[in-house]
Amino acid sequence: MKKDVSILIVDDEQDPRDTLAELLAEEGYEVHGVDSGSAALDMLKSGAYDLVITDLIMPRVDGIALTKNIRCLEIDVPIIVVTGFATIEYAVESMKAGAFDFITKPFNFDQIKLTISKALETKRLRQLASESEFYRQLSHSDELTQLANYRGFYETFQREIERALRYSHPLALLMIDIDDFKKCNDTYGHLAGDSVLKQIADLIKKNTRGSDFVARYGGEEFFAVLPETEEPEALAVAERIRSEIEHHVFVDENQNEIAHLSVTIGISSLPLRATNKRDLIRTADFALYRGKAAGKNRVVLFG
Ligand code: GH3
Ligand code: MG
Ligand code: MG
Repeated sequence: MKKDVSILIVDDEQDPRDTLAELLAEEGYEVHGVDSGSAALDMLKSGAYDLVITDLIMPRVDGIALTKNIRCLEIDVPIIVVTGFATIEYAVESMKAGAFDFITKPFNFDQIKLTISKALETKRLRQLASESEFYRQLSHSDELTQLANYRGFYETFQREIERALRYSHPLALLMIDIDDFKKCNDTYGHLAGDSVLKQIADLIKKNTRGSDFVARYGGEEFFAVLPETEEPEALAVAERIRSEIEHHVFVDENQNEIAHLSVTIGISSLPLRATNKRDLIRTADFALYRGKAAGKNRVVLFG
């Protein structure tokens, strides 16, 4: 397993470099040695290393400069600095520059082994954390529109509602449904329909604030959560979205123009129309239904 781990040793003096390299090679690591900080940077730019062990005091690019350069280039590799007792203060500086840890000369090999495994474990844990964050994001977002999907929606919705209720702040919910979208699919095909969904998502995003939250809840239904927003303002936002969509020239997947489209928007809000999550969704949905029944392409506020 250690064969998969490659370590770069940087030291301008050959003896300590070779000694450390031999010890680590015996441990089963793949080891490369270089005699300067600049050579180390070249190696790191062209190949992947799991760990860098660098001498602290070297001419020109010393251990600290090397550490700073590696961090500057955003190369994700832990760095262990090797120092003599005379320069321990300086080694602490290297930690501030982004080194993982330091070890002292003359080598205590058990300490070296321990520090190396700590560094590798830390790196592994960090990678796992960022992967799971990646998968969390993936499971919460809609691939087609890049908006949050219903899972992402509920997570943020829950948080925003709790905050609005706790501080008695207003919050509006817009439920946006494309009118006669089935007909659009039937006429221009599913790919054109997909392309329309993306364009609608962009138009909704463009007409809301960065602090608002837009999600694709399902098929051709979008939700926009507007924190800190009173009803008159929510109505104005909804009307702007409705009107822009009505006048937008939609294109299919080949950028050919297709027919005009419209949306119907149902609005509800905290705390005027509802005081909990379920009632907020229910009332916005009811307003949307009323808008559809009244002839579509309109904004309806619950109540
Ligand atoms: P209404 O005005 O009452 O909302 O009618 P509508 O046709 O928009 O609504 P309906 O619920 O009858 O049909 C929704 C359509 O949305 C049917 C479905 O094929 C289409 N749809 C849902 N998800 C997607 C998708 O991801 N891509 C495409 N192209 N179409 C989708
Ligand atoms: Mg529809
Ligand atoms: Mg629908």
